[in-house]
Amino acid sequence: DVSRFEKLSETAWRIAPFGGMRAPAIVYATEDLMTEMDDKVFDQVTNVAKLPGIVRASYAMPDAHWGYGFPIGGVAAFDADEGGVVSAGGVGFDVSCGVRTHLTHLTREQVVSVQQELADALFEHVPAGVGSEGEIALDEQGMNAMLLGGAQWAIERGFGRPEDLDRIEERGCASGADPAAVSEHARKRQRREMGTLGSGNHYLEVQEVAEIFDDEIAAAYGLVKGECVVTIHCGSCGLGHQIGTEYLREMVLSAPNYGIELPDRELACAPIKSELGQKYLGAMRAAINCALANREIIGHLARQVFVRFFAQEDLPLMFDVSHNTCKVERHAIDGETRQLFVHRKGATRAFGPGHDSLPEALRPYGQPVLIGGSMGAGSYVLAGVKTSEPQAFSSACHGAGRRMSRHAATRTWGGRQVVDDLRAQGIIIKSPSLRGVAEEAPGAYKDVRAVVDSAEAAGLARKVAFLKPLICVKG
Ligand code: 5GP
Ligand code: MN
Ligand code: MN
Repeated sequence: DVSRFEKLSETAWRIAPFGGMRAPAIVYATEDLMTEMDDKVFDQVTNVAKLPGIVRASYAMPDAHWGYGFPIGGVAAFDADEGGVVSAGGVGFDVSCGVRTHLTHLTREQVVSVQQELADALFEHVPAGVGSEGEIALDEQGMNAMLLGGAQWAIERGFGRPEDLDRIEERGCASGADPAAVSEHARKRQRREMGTLGSGNHYLEVQEVAEIFDDEIAAAYGLVKGECVVTIHCGSCGLGHQIGTEYLREMVLSAPNYGIELPDRELACAPIKSELGQKYLGAMRAAINCALANREIIGHLARQVFVRFFAQEDLPLMFDVSHNTCKVERHAIDGETRQLFVHRKGATRAFGPGHDSLPEALRPYGQPVLIGGSMGAGSYVLAGVKTSEPQAFSSACHGAGRRMSRHAATRTWGGRQVVDDLRAQGIIIKSPSLRGVAEEAPGAYKDVRAVVDSAEAAGLARKVAFLKPLICVKG
């Protein structure tokens, strides 16, 4: 119901604080996307604005859809000095789920000439699906080292290259990880899951750069029309999920002790300065490292396959970015720089040009923002812009966003039918689960073009390239 909003522009909508909100709620989307958006998103984005210590506003990105507590596509920042909270539901269950893109500099023709064999080999070499296991078995010591070291740990173990670190947020390692805050159960779930895609909407895709929107930035990113890239979407597997589950429960139970009145149980949270808040942050950062290590290993597995087909191939990493995190960042609020705990759940960090956390080669152009669409519709690479900073703490959308629940999708499509339809379009899908493929049917997602155009019009990021899938290995 769009009438609840004050229209700020063609792509920005605001709800002024009422009924316990400590800040306004702002949604960035066109009127069409707003009309299509689940009404529950609007309840959720206003409920987030009721949490203690929220700064400026509670935001939803154009791909927003219903999530657990926070909407998927939600962004909110909290100040520890003002009673600000950290929320497990504000990070999400797949902690540090994210996307990385490797360049191949192979032409579409080169890939198409071995498309089926390459798809088979990737599917055989990269473990995918519920409970799939990798080659790496972690003992207690290895687990702790991984939880502290992230992608740096993976590279030390030979699963990746040192030069990759330049192209990963925080150089592949979240500081402040606390392995002691990660339970036995969470560790156990991860022991054999390193280097696996997991299930659901996680994927490894070989994509063709089909369209360039910004020549200069595309060139700086290494994207060339007609060449192929490899994109990997996955997160922290069982470990992150277990951490989310356990801390959420603990946050629900302890909220009254901290004097926090929860507008919704699912928004369970703890003060950043509390023992539980600190413990969660330590565990969540360990899970971030797990996801960063995981994507680094999968990148390495993809390299091992490509080198068999194309001898000279080394797949340089273009960028790796997470979209389920809470990160400590500095932001200007009313002319004053403050340290904030920025939750992005199903939202991508999108630093503009000049940001000092960007590697030198990318700094003049803004951060690469990697957006999944669907296995049929394709995906986008955007670039961070400066206008996103005052509007959403330098954030943008992370995908097309669901239009339909998984269950509704399986009632609408059959997995076999989806695979056949896509094959007719030149896209090869490899998945251990036909049901999973049906849940992820392209029609279950919003129009990614409309979402990305909204993000650009709202000044959250700018379009750089459109990527069309040729091969999708699906979890
Ligand atoms: P999430 O992180 O919320 O689980 O998913 C991120 C986004 O990835 C979704 O909103 C959707 O647009 C996109 N997506 C889901 N499945 C696929 C896929 O198989 N291929 C591509 N390219 N994108 C996908
Ligand atoms: Mn994700
Ligand atoms: Mn995920």
